[in-house]
Amino acid sequence: MHSHVAGDLYQLGACVPGENGHEAVRVYVLENAGQPVLIDCGSHLHRPEFMAGLEALLKGVPPAYVFLTHSELPHVGNLQRVAQRWPAVQVIVSNVMLPYIEIPPVLPLSQVTAVRPGTVLDVGGRKLVFLTALLRDQPGSQWIYDTLTRALFTGDAFGYYHAAGECEAFSDQLPQDISTARFLRYHQNAFRFLRWTQPARLNADLARLFHARPIDIICPTHGNALRTNISAHLHNVQSALSSARTALQSIGQPA
Ligand SMILES: [Zn+2]
Repeated sequence: MHSHVAGDLYQLGACVPGENGHEAVRVYVLENAGQPVLIDCGSHLHRPEFMAGLEALLKGVPPAYVFLTHSELPHVGNLQRVAQRWPAVQVIVSNVMLPYIEIPPVLPLSQVTAVRPGTVLDVGGRKLVFLTALLRDQPGSQWIYDTLTRALFTGDAFGYYHAAGECEAFSDQLPQDISTARFLRYHQNAFRFLRWTQPARLNADLARLFHARPIDIICPTHGNALRTNISAHLHNVQSALSSARTALQSIGQPA
């Protein structure tokens, strides 16, 4: 099953119930005028429904590219299956070390390209920009910006847990914006190092990244796309990062 986000951008994948609520594991697809681009490849846990959803969306058009934000399992769990199904697919990664370690068993290195932050790739008439992931749990992770839909693909960042019944809801289909508390709950689990960060510097970097280009949609892997109130969602994530330091430092402390 897939959901239409905006323009030629679609959302696939599923979610996993846990003690904090449901955690989405999303894959985003740009139809891209006959040269489809996948952002990440999803979890192997959802392989049958992911592959069926992808086949239904692509309608026989082979994906031209997979862009990996990073190489953790929820992001590459179906890469081997995608490469088997569409053997000519090109994989774009951000880190030279990771593909050498993890991807050669999946597909030949000639089909893997490593790009540096700041690279702009012209694909199917649109420009895709690679950015250093400001929030990451693996070195060399990247965010990707699409100049056509003005979507920013943020990998693990900007994730949030959702309730049963909200599994397919975009931000504008929820009764209210994702709150600081909701972003905090997810980010303090996803990025345990936040207790050692300087939130002011991190938030200033985030503000610079968002002010440098028009962003209409935020596409997190572990949440559905945020299509509205981008500045409010950015503000709420920044507030969550500011409080994560204190919230995490209190864990394990005597009451
Ligand atoms: Zn769900």
